[in-house]
Amino acid sequence: MGKVIAIDGPAGAGKSTISRLLAKKLGYRYLDTGAMYRAITYLALEKGLNPEEGNDIVQLCKNIEMDFTPPDENNISHIIINGQDLTDKIRSKEVDNNVSTIAKNKEIREIMTRIQRKIAKSGKIILDGRDIGSRVLPDAEYKFFITASLEERARRRWEEYKAKGIAISLAEIEKEIAERDLEDSTREVSPLVQAEDAILIDTSKMSIQEVLDKILSYIKDEGDG
Ligand code: C5P
Repeated sequence: MGKVIAIDGPAGAGKSTISRLLAKKLGYRYLDTGAMYRAITYLALEKGLNPEEGNDIVQLCKNIEMDFTPPDENNISHIIINGQDLTDKIRSKEVDNNVSTIAKNKEIREIMTRIQRKIAKSGKIILDGRDIGSRVLPDAEYKFFITASLEERARRRWEEYKAKGIAISLAEIEKEIAERDLEDSTREVSPLVQAEDAILIDTSKMSIQEVLDKILSYIKDEGDG
């Protein structure tokens, strides 16, 4: 059976970029678990639900059908909820600002974790998130915890926004990321934490290629290149 690679870390550390490239290189599937929490958040906001009202959102989660398309030409799997492609819509400031509140809910996490484990079951997959190595798939063959300084992560996000034509100050992004990290790492259920057996990679001064090579060096060491 194919192996499972868990990539966790704080917001803006480059997890999804790395995971996507790694998946392509290894011929693995890639599941962006943050997109799942984002999609629920988007739907809740669209329906006018209060992110703090867990019960309403749990009901919403129970009544949706969540699918992922095969990777497109940019190697991105689209997230489809009840037939609607939400891939672009979930990357907004409004979702950024509310997703951590929704992700704190125990029942919502249980539903998402169940889906993630089911998708990962057949292996040959990379999952990125906050609790993959520590909670969702503690037996994953490879676990990485990718981080970078707050300044560098904010700068990267700012570049992304700029490329999309979204005007936002660096200071505002830095504040948003710091708040989200704090909420994610101090929540009671499955907080953002480096699993004991995860390999820590600080990407602050590394290029994408360097990070990729570093991860591949561990995977190759095990004879699974
Ligand atoms: O990775 P991304 O920034 O898209 O994740 C958005 C949010 O989803 C995180 O800030 C966190 O609150 C939540 N999340 C989570 N557990 C995961 C993945 C994401 O709680 N495994």
